Amino acid sequence: MNVMTNPTALDVARVRADFPILAEKIRGKPLVFLDSAASAQKPRAVIDAVRNAMETQYANVHRGLHWMSERTTDAYEAARDTVAALMNARDRSEIVFTRNVTESLNLMAHSYGRGVLQPGQAVLISAMEHHSNIVPWQLLRDERGIELRVAPITDAGELDLEAFESLLQDGKVGLVSMTHMSNVLGTVTPAARIVRIAHAHGAKVLFDGAQAIVHRRVDVQALDCDFYAWTGHKLYGPTGIGVLWGRRHLLDRMPPFLGGGEMISSVTYEKSTWAVVPHKFEAGTPPILEGIGLKAAIDYVGSLDFDAIAAHEAALTEHAIARIGNVEGVHILGRAQDRGGVVAFTLDNAHAHDVATLLDRQGIAVRAGHHCAEPLMRRFGLESTARASFGIYTTHEEIDFLADSLVRVREFFK
Ligand SMILES: *Cc1c(COP(=O)(O)O)cnc(C)c1O
Repeated sequence: MNVMTNPTALDVARVRADFPILAEKIRGKPLVFLDSAASAQKPRAVIDAVRNAMETQYANVHRGLHWMSERTTDAYEAARDTVAALMNARDRSEIVFTRNVTESLNLMAHSYGRGVLQPGQAVLISAMEHHSNIVPWQLLRDERGIELRVAPITDAGELDLEAFESLLQDGKVGLVSMTHMSNVLGTVTPAARIVRIAHAHGAKVLFDGAQAIVHRRVDVQALDCDFYAWTGHKLYGPTGIGVLWGRRHLLDRMPPFLGGGEMISSVTYEKSTWAVVPHKFEAGTPPILEGIGLKAAIDYVGSLDFDAIAAHEAALTEHAIARIGNVEGVHILGRAQDRGGVVAFTLDNAHAHDVATLLDRQGIAVRAGHHCAEPLMRRFGLESTARASFGIYTTHEEIDFLADSLVRVREFFK
């Protein structure tokens, strides 16, 4: 399919014009931003929405009886409706706002882990998790005696489904907590199959969707999962807001995570009672401006058509694997069948940090390091890699420039 002549194809030039930062120069050179998997740039629609809220309709939410507070509450709660629609949640009350996906996962480990799971049960993750989906479960294990199991991956960087299923066989796993897309390998995990297998063995399923939600349509009812967590800043929204979606009856069973204002129904020194879901999990002044910005981001992405975005990113990824993979001495990590717009690579004889530093001189922003996935790096016998990642504004020309620059960088390390 020729993307250029496809009528529903993404108009990348128009998209780029919507992102003011892309006009910035780095050391006199155009910014080639290939680090969207760490955090995406923001379209003018998001910038304007946040500024407009501060300039024209801002007050604290849910408490004031005055006009300004009611307006702000409406704007903030509209974000919850937009997120519910994005994920096809059954009900808006199933959308909990947090600070980021890390907090969503910690909420799960604290509340579901300590309040619903029992000592002797296990949590099952995979060998390609971000630290945010490892460490909260380790803390839980050490405190509560809840076992932490790790499902292996293949050399291609795909979940070993057979091993995964065998780890569920004894019926002790209460929760599977797994990435929906690896931030290092780009692997998209077979979410619906994971859910079917886990449910057949009595386990609930939580997905870390920090990457997946950016690159695909996520329908929690179609996936049939129980919880789904993600972070706003990677979906072109502001920092400081994350999402935890959960089935209402499960959220109802879970104890609060943080205590304070907003999350209570009544408070006495003897006993407090909790607000209903989702407010039970939203202690303190919520991310008001961030919510308003996130709604603008989702509306913006929605205006571009999610399928066109997915097609654009698939074409970019294929192009990147072909171009970068063809540079002598470059090795791409992971070759999953189903993958998103993230390409991690090493260069023979070169440290990833040096590669990133030399690319930066050309105005190219890539990430280098362990990508918050040290156990995964170790699985492949590595300490670090460079990583290029793509967004809706990424062009084929930028990837060509990266590949050509890598050819020059290679000369330093021959
Ligand atoms: C970025 C990322 C995280 C952490 O996101 P925060 O916004 O820092 O909480 C967790 N998991 C995956 C897969 C990620 O890509």
